[in-house]
Amino acid sequence: MSRVLIVEDEEAIADIEKDYLELSGFEVVIRSDGTSGLEAALKEDVDIIILDIMLPGVDGYEICKKVREKKNVPIIMVSAKKEDIDKIRGLGTGADDYMTKPFSPSELVARVKAHLARYERLITSTKPDNMVVELRGIRIDKTARRVFINGEEKAFTTKEFDLLTFLAEHPNHVYTKDELFKEIWGMDSVGDIATVTVHIKKIREKIEYDTSKPQYIETIWGVGYRFKV
Ligand code: CA
Repeated sequence: MSRVLIVEDEEAIADIEKDYLELSGFEVVIRSDGTSGLEAALKEDVDIIILDIMLPGVDGYEICKKVREKKNVPIIMVSAKKEDIDKIRGLGTGADDYMTKPFSPSELVARVKAHLARYERLITSTKPDNMVVELRGIRIDKTARRVFINGEEKAFTTKEFDLLTFLAEHPNHVYTKDELFKEIWGMDSVGDIATVTVHIKKIREKIEYDTSKPQYIETIWGVGYRFKV
């Protein structure tokens, strides 16, 4: 649920905005003066701010400027005076939108939705993609450390995950047990190459349809293993 912060000193206006936004499924926080409004805008987790300009304490211009230094959250500025709107444009305070009072509450709700959708797209498009290895029905999400076999998630231990990922990232390459042990467990680890055999067995139980006829991780007798593609 998205959280809307309304900074508005006229109680009646704040209440109407709140009612309409809540009816549309938003969670609403109201602050009725500039000082507490600025504090809430900076410290609370809000998704969009509806900001009046003339406020006791810090005014809307100042709040907008201060918030912009810290956050990209959408800001809709509202004012009763047409001149204020011109000033917002001229100042380049970083507001995303502005509305002149009186406005229809449903228009406000529509704009809130539009700005949230735009902001959401912006965030999603700048988020780096997860690193994914995908081979014949196996999908390994390296970022989330999750494995899906034909769409079904399977649980892997840390070393099983590392071993499977390493082999899948080097398909058709034959590795000896010794090489795999050094790669996954590290040179200085205590243990022996039998550990590799045990882990391969466990991985196969999770990824292979028939472990006696492995389709993914092949045993190359006398040498080691390879991930087939
Ligand atoms: Ca006011």
